[in-house]
Amino acid sequence: MNILILGSGGREHALAWKIGASPLTEKLYCAPGNAGIAREAECIALDIGDHAAVVAFAREKRIDLVAVGPEVPLCAGIVDDLEGAGIKAFGPTKWAARLEGSKGFTKDLCKANAIPTAAYQRFKHAREAKDYVRTHGAPIVVKADGLAAGKGVVVAETVPEAEAAIDMMLGGGLGKPAWEIVVEDCLTGEEASFFALCDGDTAIPLVSAQDHKRVFDGDKGPNTGGMGAYSPAPVITPAMERRVMDEIVLPTIAALKALGAPYKGVLFVGLMITAQGPQLIEFNVRFGDPECQVLMLRLKSDLVPALLAACDGQLKNFDLRWHADTALTVVMATKGYPGAYGKGSAIEGLDAAAEVAGVQIFHAGTVADNGRILANGGRVLNICALGRNVREAQARAYQAVDRIRWPQGFCRRDIGWRAVAREG
Ligand code: AMP
Repeated sequence: MNILILGSGGREHALAWKIGASPLTEKLYCAPGNAGIAREAECIALDIGDHAAVVAFAREKRIDLVAVGPEVPLCAGIVDDLEGAGIKAFGPTKWAARLEGSKGFTKDLCKANAIPTAAYQRFKHAREAKDYVRTHGAPIVVKADGLAAGKGVVVAETVPEAEAAIDMMLGGGLGKPAWEIVVEDCLTGEEASFFALCDGDTAIPLVSAQDHKRVFDGDKGPNTGGMGAYSPAPVITPAMERRVMDEIVLPTIAALKALGAPYKGVLFVGLMITAQGPQLIEFNVRFGDPECQVLMLRLKSDLVPALLAACDGQLKNFDLRWHADTALTVVMATKGYPGAYGKGSAIEGLDAAAEVAGVQIFHAGTVADNGRILANGGRVLNICALGRNVREAQARAYQAVDRIRWPQGFCRRDIGWRAVAREG
């Protein structure tokens, strides 16, 4: 098969690594890709926001399957456009991608189908939202409807903080004014992510993961796209996985099918595991980054038949096999991230780092320049490792990190701390 991956981060490198290893893959392309992905796939300088150009390329190269990495093209309808041109594409349609694209849509869907999530109200006007916040008190959570690259959520500890978040979001603080906000109760418990593969009709469980969103050790400092992750998440026991499937994933798939917007692709379920059980924090309509990297390391089965089964409505009797081992990834970022940072610093020692037992390195933001690898983004490298437990995976990943010479880079030194503490 000729396969095209869309995206340019560590998630897409992990997908390229796994898809490239499939005996079904004849020729692999990635648009636009990065210097690491170029080892697995032919990188193509395509603007993936230009759907007509993507369709034309897929036609010209006789692409049999397109795997879409990020949420922006999914919410903009890239799958609709590809399928309309007769090209198979892995991922939800624009209509089904509202699960990530609109928090109000998702909250209403949960309410109508008794899917456990925080109690909420939707608002278009600041005055009413503030009245609600004053009546409810803090802590309380304010969320902008629509995609906001992870910046559209404020967990407010006080009423004035919530009021400021309302003004910020409705006043254009996120770039443009949110057309609507959701205000919801603050949940307490342990956060975890769960992934399911869906074919419009049914869903099969993948595995769980936990990530670290804050930039500094001890989960301090501003939020980022993710500084590290590991899989499995110890809080997601087999019994909890069953509850997540029965109480959240399967009712969501059934509800979307009933709405005439069947959901195909991977469903990322952001969870709070509370004393009462699993509560939905949010859905994402694609693999997480960096969660995808640890999932791909643990996946024993060939990924390509799974993607095809999801596209073709054939998941009912499908089965995937996983390594029991733990996978962990440490994100290396350019100093300054998630604020302003420079580009173009040279990274050395990658080959020596990749030789550490159990280690796999994915590139998240790099370019090649005369045989050198240069940093080209905020999050730049994902140093991943498999181990018998979190402690071993963590030790291996940091052993590899320590072989990398990149003075302009940094990483957290405590990825997986919560799970390591549990191992005792
Ligand atoms: P989201 O973009 O919806 O995943 O929200 C980003 C982060 O905000 C989550 O990972 C949680 O840490 C936090 N968060 C979102 N909603 C809630 C909630 N209702 N209660 C507590 N924390 C929340």
